[in-house]
Amino acid sequence: MPRCPACDKPVVLETSPTAPFCSDRCRLVDLGRWLDESQAIPVRKKGSAGPLDGEDFDGDDEAAGIAPDEVCDD
Ligand SMILES: [Zn+2]
Repeated sequence: MPRCPACDKPVVLETSPTAPFCSDRCRLVDLGRWLDESQAIPVRKKGSAGPLDGEDFDGDDEAAGIAPDEVCDD
């Protein structure tokens, strides 16, 4: 038997008007979770897409600028 995604109680899909949730309350709880996540994810992406990406690029350039041959010669 499938279980309610919100509270993990068994749900009869054929008879439950709120399927796959066991109740309207659980449906709202799950909806609230999705809204929370969809609001949080874009904010995180905005933050990491800015200065963090720039730092990554700088680090790569510095690593590529060091020539291993020069270190061996000395
Ligand atoms: Zn439930």
